[in-house]
This record gives sequence, structure tokens and C-alpha cells, in this order.
Amino acid sequence: MACSGCGRKFPDAYDSNERSVRDLPWSAFRTTVHIEVYRVKCPECGVKIEKVPLLPSKAPFSQRFEDAVGLACEGAAARQVARRFGLAESTVRAIDLRYLERWKASRRQPPLREMGVDEIHVGKKEKFLTVVCNLETAEPLWFGRERKKETLDVFFRDELSTRQRRGIEAACVDMWEPFRLSMAEWIPNCRIVYDKFHVMQHANAAVDEVRRAEFFRKGGRMRDLVKGKRWLLLSRWVNLTAGKRQELNQLFALNRKVFKAYLLKESLDRLWTYHYEGAMLNYLQRWIDQLRWQRLQAFQKLAVMLLDHLEGILNYCRTKVPLGVVEAVNGNIKALLRRGRGYKNLRYLLLKAQRMAATRTEFVVFKKAA
Ligand SMILES: [Zn+2]
Repeated sequence: MACSGCGRKFPDAYDSNERSVRDLPWSAFRTTVHIEVYRVKCPECGVKIEKVPLLPSKAPFSQRFEDAVGLACEGAAARQVARRFGLAESTVRAIDLRYLERWKASRRQPPLREMGVDEIHVGKKEKFLTVVCNLETAEPLWFGRERKKETLDVFFRDELSTRQRRGIEAACVDMWEPFRLSMAEWIPNCRIVYDKFHVMQHANAAVDEVRRAEFFRKGGRMRDLVKGKRWLLLSRWVNLTAGKRQELNQLFALNRKVFKAYLLKESLDRLWTYHYEGAMLNYLQRWIDQLRWQRLQAFQKLAVMLLDHLEGILNYCRTKVPLGVVEAVNGNIKALLRRGRGYKNLRYLLLKAQRMAATRTEFVVFKKAA
């Protein structure tokens, strides 16, 4: 018999006990297995229960039963799985969490060379979640509440060794000062890249600001006309159907400023097609020149921001970090949050998202959409 604490083997038992665990069903019958388990007297751990691989925890379930529940949770919400197995929803979540922890413990962690840092807006109360991911494996590595410098500091301090920190060559981040400060402190040699996804998020926000400023003043009939067109303005032209393009054109006919803003957003996208710093810088300069006399304040602000972060934008030419990964990881987490409420346990959400990335359940779909 082996001690469940340290694994040391003993020839004799201290005492024995009986446990009943739910196992996989036999035909139409629910099955309970009664097992006699021994306790050993370990000089290290004291009186401990013996190690039984089929009994993963103190909960009254066999490992194969837990594996079946965990597998079911990969494709369905906890509530549905609970109904199917005749369990409480909270029990299903607890089983799923243990299932994922066992999976996590059994796999090797690939090295972190290129990291992504992003924040996700999760709601009014909790506000933001900081997400760190491995760009090479497209897998989320860590979640932190809020998006302060201290948030990211925790990741560098608690999750990585000095050697691991030195191994990070590049990082894809939002132009969010607290993150930059944290990285300057912990991974000073890492190359920071402001990627397309994050910059375009700011460009979209600028378009939205112009739209609001232009049409809010107008009121009445005009406001009704642009109602519900927000997402159209935030869509890429290439992704729109002929009908939707027509709708946008009608909108542009009404307001030249919104038209200009949309064009500016669309053309900024081309910045990431350049492979040489000089060419990229040149394009950016010409893009900024177009802003002159346009009186588009939102875009003036964006231009200042881009110039302030120029080094990190041009870094894309030096380090071709994979585009779209941060966005895909984000999408998966948001899908998880939408599907099942009750991810108060961040560890559970993280394991779930990691498993999703490892099995590529939804990732491919998001990649295509991007
Ligand atoms: Zn022991």
C-alpha cells in the first residue's frame, strides 16, 4: 500500500474503511461501487489513506465517472450535463475542475518565448480581466483581475522564474501604459510589439467617436437613419455584402466626416503589410498627413498615440509575431463567459480556456472570422 501523501510504500495497513463511489452506469442502471480502502501509518504524513488511482478525490465518484462528466462538459454547459447525469450543477463544476486539473498536471508546459497581454472587459462590476497568453501555442497562460501594473507584476513575480523571464523575446500588448511599465521592470530586454489587433481597436474607437459626435448633434430623422449602423462602421469593407455596402454608402452620402473616418480606419490596416521599417514609417507618415485640415479630433488623438508608440509599432518589422492570436484567445474566453455564467473561479475559467485551445474546439472558427 502506498501513502497518498508522499507515495512511500507499506506492507501493513493501519486500519480499513469502506467507501461508496458512483461509477459508470451498467446498462440502464446507475452503478455504485463499494470499495474497502486501507489507511497506512506514515512516519512523514501520519495516518493517511492509501493511494488508489481509481479514486481521484474525497468526492464519491470514481475516476472514470469523473472523466465521463468532464468530457461531457467540453461540449455542453454545466447545467445540461447536470441534468443528463442527475447531479447538481455545482457538483458537475467541481468534477469538471478536478478533471481539468488532472489533465493539466499530465502535460508539459511549452516554453514562453512570445507572449501576448490583453485585457477583456467582463462586466460592469468586475470590469477588466488581464489575460496573458503564449503566442506560439495560442494558449492562455494566466488571468488576473483588473488591468493595473500590479496585476501584471503578479504574473511575472509568481508564475515565472528568472530564467523563464529572460527567455521571453517578444510581447504583443495593447498601448496601455501600466502594462508597459510592468514589462519594463520585469522583462526589460523583451521586444514590445503593438500589434494590428490592438491598434485597430483604437482606430475603431475613433470612428465610433466621430459617428457619435456627428450624428448626435443632428437629432431627429438623421439619428433614426444611423441607428443600428454602428457595427457596420466597425466592419471591414471586404467583409460586407453588397447590400451592407449600399447602406454604408447612404450613410457616407449624409456625412463626409464619417466617410473620411471610415476611410482612414480602413487604410490604416495596410500598415501591417509592410516588411521594412522605412516603408512602414513612410506609410504611417502619409497616413498622418491626410489628417491635416480634416478636423477629426478623435483621429488627431490616435495619431499622437501612434507616434508615442512608434518604436513598438515598427517592431513588427523586426519581430513577426503571429497576428490574430491575441484576438482568437480573447474570442474563446468571451465565448466561454457568454455560454456559462458562474466563472467566479478564475482558475476554472483558465483551465477551461486552455483545454479549449489545446483541443482547438472553437479556435479554428475564430481564426477564420478574423
Ligand atoms: Zn506519507
